[in-house]
Amino acid sequence: MTTDLLLLICIPDSSITLFMEKKVKYIFVTGGVSSSLGKGIISASLAKLLQGRGFNVTIQKLDPYINIDPGTLNPYEHGECYVTDDGAETDLDLGHYERFSSTPTSQANNITTGRIYQNVIDKERKGEYLGTTVQVIPHITDEIKRSIKILGETGNYDFVITEIGGTVGDIESFPFVETVRQMKWEHGDDCTVVHLTLVPFLKAAGELKTKPTQHSVKTMLEQGVQPDIIVCRTEYPLNEGIRGKIAQFCNVSVNAVIESIDADTIYDVPLLMREEQLDIEILRNTKTETIHDLDLTNWERFVNRLKNPKEEVKIGLIGKYVELQDAYKSIKESFIHGGVENECKVNVIDIQSENITSENVNKALEGLDGILVAPGFGGRGIEGKIEAVRFARENNIPFLGICLGMQCAAIEFSRNILGLKDAHTTEIEVDTKNPVIDLMEEQKDVENMGGTMRLGAYNCKLDKSSKSYQAYQTETTSERHRHRFEFNNKYKDSFIEAGMKIAGVNPEKDLVEIIELENHPWFVGVQFHPEYKSNVKTPHPLFVAFVGSVIKNKKK
Ligand code: GLN
Repeated sequence: MTTDLLLLICIPDSSITLFMEKKVKYIFVTGGVSSSLGKGIISASLAKLLQGRGFNVTIQKLDPYINIDPGTLNPYEHGECYVTDDGAETDLDLGHYERFSSTPTSQANNITTGRIYQNVIDKERKGEYLGTTVQVIPHITDEIKRSIKILGETGNYDFVITEIGGTVGDIESFPFVETVRQMKWEHGDDCTVVHLTLVPFLKAAGELKTKPTQHSVKTMLEQGVQPDIIVCRTEYPLNEGIRGKIAQFCNVSVNAVIESIDADTIYDVPLLMREEQLDIEILRNTKTETIHDLDLTNWERFVNRLKNPKEEVKIGLIGKYVELQDAYKSIKESFIHGGVENECKVNVIDIQSENITSENVNKALEGLDGILVAPGFGGRGIEGKIEAVRFARENNIPFLGICLGMQCAAIEFSRNILGLKDAHTTEIEVDTKNPVIDLMEEQKDVENMGGTMRLGAYNCKLDKSSKSYQAYQTETTSERHRHRFEFNNKYKDSFIEAGMKIAGVNPEKDLVEIIELENHPWFVGVQFHPEYKSNVKTPHPLFVAFVGSVIKNKKK
């Protein structure tokens, strides 16, 4: 389908040419009964199906909390913070959107209540509502609508999928659900609502229960929204009786009751949704003509390789948030992509960096085929991370250090090879005599915490003799960042002399982006976050090369 905003329609019998605005279709995904049902994965899977039919799709997340963005949130609160090319600090669901759809997102794809209110209050101060009382309806809901339509009006998309965070019935999500009601009222068939609910299995009764779904649809109806499609998260298949009951009580056709059964891997979900014909139901509801038959060949190939690995390796993930499932989401998914490319199953072993000491490191990291030291902020667990780097360096174990992980590699090298025993980052040891990692110049006057780091895409020029260049096969690359501290160029020469290659540099600011050990099977530290750019279609070159080196090294 053409992506032009205007479609030229020529009527053969007359010379009249009409310009018709191309209609963007809006799909809303809401959640009921419980949080964590996987709205993000359902949204991303739906996008994949529509892409597989030739449509251009983007996915947006509306989050009901008051923070302007999740950048200042602790991972304990909200899991990983995902960073886009334009430097937006966003919800981790955007990671799923990009990994599934291979379409970059931006700040416009993640809006919080905080941002909505901030925009409205800014306008109020500028006098844009002069004379009127500023209210939730219409001003807040208008601002929400504007944030949704911004994507539709780019002319780039046939479908805008908007996932509403939280659960319907929450006080916080009311303005969003009200906005959905207004959008449906204004846009009619160009708007459709998918409601994801839970159909629990009651062991004592031995059956699946539809009542929570009925109640959650009733809650939506009280807010004026009739869902068009009900996606039912379930541990067991839905039989005809259950489907019929949900259809009848929730005012939808039986075809619009979609089973979303627990899957072995999230990458199965698009295929499961295809079987349930979720895409066909969407096209029917939005009166959209299909462009071509659904083609998921590449996706199927990926899933097939994922399920039939030829190799298996163990890579330790050293971090301070390892007990949290979502804290290192993108890294774990990148290992899946990089693994599939190598036809290898990567078993990621979570290791709490706080527990690693120089005494127990050999035992703690025993048997690992590769080591990744994770990004992070603050001092907790950093000495354990530095020990893990030393272990990888001394034992020739393939190593990838990301952001703080790269900074730890620089500190370790300074302390143990250059003999600068007090080397540290000024993030943790402000007065260290050897600040091998130091605050970036432009960060020195920064006072606000939110959105002020070095964020988003910056160029990196690669040294042609480096392992990174071998991985990327290109001289310049662009990667996403999220940091305030950087490698201190004063130490560059001593690093190079002692065998640490400066493999990548940002040409505009001369910031070190990649360091690599010369005499080591594969030891790479990157200041940026490759994990934010890995997706099913294009697994990240560094993860592919890292897993490749782990396999090779293991065979030695
Ligand atoms: N805390 C470090 C810095 O700000 C590293 C950040 C990170 O790992 N994302 O530079």
